[in-house]
Amino acid sequence: MNTPLKTKTEYRDYTRLAEQIRQWAQTLELTIGFASPDIPAHHRQQLSDWLAAGYHGEMTFFTRNQATRHDPTQLQPDTLCIISARLNYWHQESASTQATLNNTNLGYISRYALGRDYHKVLRQKLKQLCQKIETEMGAFSWRPFTDSAPIMEHALAEQAGLGFIGKNTLLIHPEAGSTFFLGEILCNLPLPSDKPSEKCGCGPCTNCLTDCPTGAIIAPFTVDARRCISYLTIEYDGSIDERLRPLMGNRIYGCDDCQLTCPWNKFSQPTQTDDFAIRHQLDQQPLLTLWQWSEATFLAKTEGSPIRRIGYEKWRRNIAIALGNAPQSPEILLTLKQALATSSELVKEHIEWAINQQQTSLRSIAIINRYYL
Ligand code: SF4
Ligand code: SF4
Repeated sequence: MNTPLKTKTEYRDYTRLAEQIRQWAQTLELTIGFASPDIPAHHRQQLSDWLAAGYHGEMTFFTRNQATRHDPTQLQPDTLCIISARLNYWHQESASTQATLNNTNLGYISRYALGRDYHKVLRQKLKQLCQKIETEMGAFSWRPFTDSAPIMEHALAEQAGLGFIGKNTLLIHPEAGSTFFLGEILCNLPLPSDKPSEKCGCGPCTNCLTDCPTGAIIAPFTVDARRCISYLTIEYDGSIDERLRPLMGNRIYGCDDCQLTCPWNKFSQPTQTDDFAIRHQLDQQPLLTLWQWSEATFLAKTEGSPIRRIGYEKWRRNIAIALGNAPQSPEILLTLKQALATSSELVKEHIEWAINQQQTSLRSIAIINRYYL
C-alpha cells in the first residue's frame, strides 16, 4: 500500500493520486478503474449494428443519443479521464432466488430491484468520492452518472479493467460475477488509464444463450431487447406479444436468468450497502398479494424503489401475465374476472389472456379427472 499523500503538490503525482482515489473509493464500497474517454472502435461499431438491426425496440433514445454514446466528451467537454465504478447489490438472502422462480404462485422481481433505487445510492457515493478528492487536493471538474445519461458503461468499465463483457452482454469480473451496478465520473484529472480487461472469459460456455427463457440472446454478445423480459416488463409500454407471454413465467419486474445461469456468478459478492436491503419481502411475495395492491399501496410500497418507475398500469399488466402462467386455480380465475371492469384497456387485454390461460388449464384438468382418474 502506498503511503497516503499529504500535500497538494504531492497530488500532482497522478499515478499515486489514482491509487489514493482507489483506496477512498473502497471505503465507500466502490471498486473503481480509470479509462480514457475514447470508446474503442469495435464497441462503437457494435452499437451501430445493434441499432441498425432494430434490436433496441422502442428505446428510441438510443438512436437519438448515439453520437454522445460514441463520444462521452459531448457530455462534459473537459473530460480527460472517466472513473468507472462498480457497486455490489447481491443479497445473501436471495439464495432463495431459484425457489421463487420455480414457485409460479410467487412473483419474481429482479434481484437488483429489491431495495432502494440504485440510481440515488450509487450517485450519492460517486458524489462523496468527488467531494473527498476535492477536500484533499482542491477543486476539479467532475460529473457523476448512474444510468442517467447516454454512456457506453460496459465498454468503459471494460476499458477501466473492471471486467470483461460476456456473451450475455453484461460486464463480468472473475472475482465478483456480474451482480453489481455501474456508474461513472467524468472528470478533468489526467489520471493514468488502467489496463483494459484483455479477453472474454466465457470460453465455450453458452449457458446464457440456451437458458434465456425467451431466446432474446440471439447470438453471443447480441440481445434482441424486443424479446428480453427486462425490456418487456420495465421499458416497454404496450401490449406484450402473446407468443412471449407464456415464456415469461412469473417474472413481473426484470429477469435475471442470464446471470443466474452464468458460472462466474458463483463469485458474486454480497452487498455491504444497507440501502439495498430487501423491502416488503419483495423477493418472495405471492402474486395474488401483489395483485391486490391498490395504486396507493403500490406507490407507498415502492417509494424510493426502482420498481416505482414503471407505474401502476405496467405493474398490473406484468402481474396479469404471471397469473395467467400460474398453476390453475379457481381463486386466481375469480380474482382476474373481478378486476376486468375496473382495469384500463391495456391491463384488461392482458387479464383476458390470463383468464383464457387459466380456463384452458382448468379444462385440461377436468378432462384428465374425467377420463383417467
Ligand atoms: S434478462 Fe432474461 S430475457 Fe433478457 S436476455 Fe437475460 S435471460 Fe434473456
Ligand atoms: S453464461 Fe457462459 S456464455 Fe454466458 S456470459 Fe456467463 S460465462 Fe459467458
